[in-house]
Amino acid sequence: MSNYHIKNLEEYFQVYRKSVREPENFWAEIAEEHFTWRKKWDNVLSWDFKKPEVKWFENAKLNITENCIDRHLLTRGEKTAIIWEPNDSSEAAQHITYNQLHEKVNKFANVLKSKGIEKGDRVCIYLPMVPELAYAVLACARIGAIHSVVFAGFSSKALATRTLDADCKMLITSDGSYRGSKTLNLKNIVDEALEDCPDVKSVLVVKRTGEEINMKDGRDEWLQPLMDKASSECAPEIVDAEDPLFILYTSGSTGRPKGMLHTTAGYMVYTAFTFKNIFNYTEGDVYWCTADIGWITGHSYIVYGPLANGATTVMFEGVPSYPDHGRFWEIVEKHKVTQFYTAPTAIRALAKRNIEFVENHDLSSLKVLGSVGEPINEEAWHWFNDNIGKNQSPIVDTWWQTETGGIMISPMPYVTPTKPTYATLPMPGIQPSLMDDDGNEIKGNQVSGRLCVKFPWPSIARTVWGDHERYKDTYFSTFEGKYFTGDGALRDEVGYYRITGRTDDVIIVSGHNLGTAPIEDAINEHPAVAESAVVGFPHDVKGNALYAFVILKESGESRKRDNLRKEINQQISEKVGPIAKPDKIQFVEGLPKTRSGKIMRRILRKIASNDTSDLGDTSTLLNPEVVEAIIAEAM
Ligand code: ATP
Ligand code: MG
Repeated sequence: MSNYHIKNLEEYFQVYRKSVREPENFWAEIAEEHFTWRKKWDNVLSWDFKKPEVKWFENAKLNITENCIDRHLLTRGEKTAIIWEPNDSSEAAQHITYNQLHEKVNKFANVLKSKGIEKGDRVCIYLPMVPELAYAVLACARIGAIHSVVFAGFSSKALATRTLDADCKMLITSDGSYRGSKTLNLKNIVDEALEDCPDVKSVLVVKRTGEEINMKDGRDEWLQPLMDKASSECAPEIVDAEDPLFILYTSGSTGRPKGMLHTTAGYMVYTAFTFKNIFNYTEGDVYWCTADIGWITGHSYIVYGPLANGATTVMFEGVPSYPDHGRFWEIVEKHKVTQFYTAPTAIRALAKRNIEFVENHDLSSLKVLGSVGEPINEEAWHWFNDNIGKNQSPIVDTWWQTETGGIMISPMPYVTPTKPTYATLPMPGIQPSLMDDDGNEIKGNQVSGRLCVKFPWPSIARTVWGDHERYKDTYFSTFEGKYFTGDGALRDEVGYYRITGRTDDVIIVSGHNLGTAPIEDAINEHPAVAESAVVGFPHDVKGNALYAFVILKESGESRKRDNLRKEINQQISEKVGPIAKPDKIQFVEGLPKTRSGKIMRRILRKIASNDTSDLGDTSTLLNPEVVEAIIAEAM
């Protein structure tokens, strides 16, 4: 177990050095010791970032569900694998044991087979956060089919595009879904989407809300009767290490979503290793990640990473605001959650509410807090630390991407001293580098640049489904021989990394490179401000100028607003520098967000540049009405 659970900073540096000096031995030892293989690899790694091509554990044979389920049965058969917490707290939670998970996944796998699904076929999964979503994902993996989960908040158009792009043969959905006080008829959305997808021959429907839906003869079937009939024995399909496991589309913050393809063995090894170390997972913990399985965070850190470790993982169907803003904390108390992993957007939303929503609950079970998805601003970090962690639970600010499969830069709790807004240090095996605009690597500390990774890690996406050129262009062409993340970062005096935002969002004002995150941080620290987004727009003299969109906690009268502008500018001058003062500050009611909760800065950039005729692909936009309101009041 030596290299698996890192105990202190000294050991981290030791392990890290080894992972860089002898990456192949490093990963081979972990793979050897902690997983079940049907056949060992012939070669640990072959790679070429120019082609680009990466292969880990070549010719090894395995099945990931054997690692996530079967091998635990002997010792953990009656242990809870999944705690499912429903949308409505009056409905009972489910505790699904490893034995039960085994049975469900096997039955589901047999249902897939009976519908003609074979190894390599693509299956689209469009389900709310019900247990069947986890079963469906694992059932695909059981038989070597490739799952493509589409977040069940997406429109029929977005669903159709993804189903077509991945050329799916089957779609798994439910009649409807509950989200807070609302019910959504998912099947109607599916029916509309499938008008454009003639190759989907079979649709399986989970009954959840019981509402009226259409069932198309010869295509649609209820899942439950098929499950009831199916055998609970399904031998795992033994696949190759590099056989595809899933396709997942990026969240679409920057443009047309990319169908990232992840393969089996490397993904399994990396997500399991990072889960254990980043969440300080120990037997008996109850781990909760609030993401949806429709995002990479849910794939890697609700399903595969936790289950590969034999952990208990919570799956929550609902939303943080229903029945009130104390729901997250009620669930932490109810299930005695030990690790709580969420997104800055949720933290900011909850921090705006009355603190009694937190104080009414006993959060003493918590030992690790996590954040992912966007830079976490300093104020939100402190609120999370003070009120949820009570200064006792380290916050892991985890930086990673759909493309990276697993967490890349993050503190390890009780190992890495944390620093607000810093993702801190690379995980073992991850070799980040900062590049300048001329393509040179920037050495040393107290520097900033474009964040690249110069050596492959096991869970790097292998291609963009059906478009290897796009994979090459997007990630490997900007800096030769390096994986380019698209994000900017700075490295402080001790070598800690801070993600400063996407490089598309780095704004050059009068020759100075300004990241959006530190400026937003300064704005958000004003007590009247709830959230903000800063973008650049062309300026005759400075090249670019800054435009800030600011949401106030309470919208004030206009005279007060002028004062607020002054105060915000003052705060930016002090915290970042006078150069970073925005030319325009617009107070808004909301910000355009992706369905995963991220601010869509490219839309704000268009508004700031007064160029709103074509807003690009807005299919992943959550709140189009906000965009119209901002345009109407733009300065
Ligand atoms: P698209 O690639 O389609 O624009 P996306 O980048 O939003 O979508 P994801 O792969 O879900 O899709 O998000 C990864 C990005 O999220 C990172 O590149 C980074 O910009 C941001 N991010 C994630 N975690 C953090 C973090 N801890 N700190 C700062 N930024 C983060
Ligand atoms: Mg991205």
